[in-house]
Amino acid sequence: MAKPKYTSHVGMVDILPDESPKWRALENIIHEEAARFNFEEIRTPIMEQTELIVRGIGQLTDIVSKEIFAFEKGDSHYVLRPELTAPVVRSYVEHHLDQRGGSQKLYYIGPMFRAEKPQKGRQRQFHQFGVEVIGSDDPVADVETIAFMMRIYERIGIKNFELKLNSVGDPESREAYKAALRDHLKPNLHKLSEISQNRFEKNPMRILDSKEAEDQEFIKNAPVIQDYLNEETAEHFEKVTAYLEDLEISYTIDPHLVRGMDYYTRTAFELTSPDLGSQDALAGGGRYDLLVEEIGGQPTPAVGFAAGMERLLIACEELNIELTAEKSVDVYFVTLGDSARSFAVTHLPKLREAGISATMDYMSRSMKAQMKDANRENARYTLIIGDNELNEGKFTLRNMKESEENSLTFDEILKKLR
Ligand code: AMP
Repeated sequence: MAKPKYTSHVGMVDILPDESPKWRALENIIHEEAARFNFEEIRTPIMEQTELIVRGIGQLTDIVSKEIFAFEKGDSHYVLRPELTAPVVRSYVEHHLDQRGGSQKLYYIGPMFRAEKPQKGRQRQFHQFGVEVIGSDDPVADVETIAFMMRIYERIGIKNFELKLNSVGDPESREAYKAALRDHLKPNLHKLSEISQNRFEKNPMRILDSKEAEDQEFIKNAPVIQDYLNEETAEHFEKVTAYLEDLEISYTIDPHLVRGMDYYTRTAFELTSPDLGSQDALAGGGRYDLLVEEIGGQPTPAVGFAAGMERLLIACEELNIELTAEKSVDVYFVTLGDSARSFAVTHLPKLREAGISATMDYMSRSMKAQMKDANRENARYTLIIGDNELNEGKFTLRNMKESEENSLTFDEILKKLR
């Protein structure tokens, strides 16, 4: 085939007609389960002000690692959203959602953008679904958030995964832990990777998730944060784990699971799958009790997660899980001549109104070609319409699978298929 004149941007992929049914099936599952959990959908714009996403110099490392798409228009600076936690919190603060009362249990589905180097499971435009529960610091909110995430995979039939859990503490416990971590690393600081050396002062906890070979031996023996949690934070974590056990959701505690930003607090979690290869994270989340205030709202605790939809679909493929039934249409109108086509155009809606899917040929093709097309579309029935049929008021309804034909009036057909 000839090389196309235009292609999509690298790392941005078309979801083609053969694939869209499984996306819709996945979206339907998410909407259905969200309704069961009483989560409400929120939809925010694709672009946000740069200042929202890059808040202060502390996030500069993040903008580099997440490689954000940025634009200018006049004096305004925009980015394509790389994730939805900050935008959802922005919306919560901007629209005073706290005044609706109670905690806000929000969920979203949509595209995110990161200018990363594309590879399997890593795109520049990809999709996430996720939850943000804003306004509660109860461990129940953490557990319901995790339970919703797990429910989606359970319903789809993905069972082969690991839920890793940690507490990243509150500011007080974290200061104590960071001091202990620096004490542990300091004697060997010169042996650490350059990137870890740079993190030593400002963000030593990030060293714990370093992938650099030379860091591993020092990470292995590092003190663990669980030993530095103050009473309140330790108790919160214990309640989260106890509820998870009650729900029979298995997890492993991973003391090296940390998060980049200071606004993350207490519960952190990640769901990984061995079916995904090197990009093995299905979803991740945790508490961010300090973010709402950072974005200009009242101090408000919150917890959430984000899950990659492409990765979920890759896992389905690896596990031979079919998210959708085969494509099909109930009735294909095979038309012979102009009057038959007019009849079809005005009678297709009658079937559709009755909940029966129906289509016809748009290319005035021969009967043979239309029958072939009906097969390609996996039609359950064909309805053959020609001048004779129109004169008699009776049409041939052919059951394609059983190769069985009936001559019926249109009303009889409606009744039969309904
Ligand atoms: P994060 O916001 O980085 O915690 O990502 C949450 C989830 O989104 C990950 O666990 C992945 O499943 C998915 N994800 C993140 N980045 C990408 C990407 N570039 N392409 C596809 N999926 C991604």
